[in-house]
Amino acid sequence: MRVTARGADICAKTESTLVAGDPGRGVEATSAATPGLRDCIYGQAVGDALGVPYEFRARGSFACTGMTGHGTHDQPAGTWSDDTSMALAICDSYRELGRIDTDDIRMRFRRWYEEGAYTVDGLFDVGGTCARAIREGRGMAGGRDNGNGSLMRTLPLAFTPATDDEVRAVSAVTHAHPLSCGLCVELVHVARRLMASASPTEAAGEYARLRERPRHEVRSGGFVRDTFEAALWCLLTTSSYEECVLAAVNLGDDTDTTAAVAGGLAGIAYGEATIPVGWLAVLCGRDVIEGCLF
Ligand SMILES: [Mg+2]
Repeated sequence: MRVTARGADICAKTESTLVAGDPGRGVEATSAATPGLRDCIYGQAVGDALGVPYEFRARGSFACTGMTGHGTHDQPAGTWSDDTSMALAICDSYRELGRIDTDDIRMRFRRWYEEGAYTVDGLFDVGGTCARAIREGRGMAGGRDNGNGSLMRTLPLAFTPATDDEVRAVSAVTHAHPLSCGLCVELVHVARRLMASASPTEAAGEYARLRERPRHEVRSGGFVRDTFEAALWCLLTTSSYEECVLAAVNLGDDTDTTAAVAGGLAGIAYGEATIPVGWLAVLCGRDVIEGCLF
């Protein structure tokens, strides 16, 4: 148990660990962000934060009904994790350079990993493949390197002109196996169709059949294909942002990542305005998020 006085109210008002170099970016900043990007990023961050307290918990052993704190990582309510941090690193790179630059993205991932850049209050959740790839400066391409660590951060690329090859290259900064790279491309395609006002079913394309999958057959661990399919299942079988992310968290296991991906998609589909205000009110690190939008 932490002894520092941390809680939802404190967290929401605390200056977060902001990337160096632009002290002018504060919580009051309003960004004329690319249409849909705010919907996606806030959708992802809120989903991530909803799932953080329950990560690794077995399905059925808990019931998430809203934003709570502590739990698995003992973080204040509203704290988002590596999924959103790495997505923000990609956002910030594109914001600054106006192009997809994997060397720059790798450098920002390293600043996240080594310095806690793009976090609410430091690192507490780092995937093994991401850590190894960042330390060694090369993406991992083994068959066992197909965790969801690149999928969880890939949605911002839907708001750039990134080609499929560029989406694969950004995945390959840490996750270089064709399966991980390919599912990142698929996710970007789904997101772009949602942005073009496709319904979830239309946007899911060939994956719309996932709607028929019974819940007990939806896997929600850390394998990239499981996360991709679970997130789409949540989007396809619910009809609001709130329902979608709660469905994702309550699948259990990799709760924050499933809800981050599902939440990003649901954010695009339903809009930031549909995210429950009580959840947004306790979301931590809004200054960090605002500073990275493009
Ligand atoms: Mg996480």
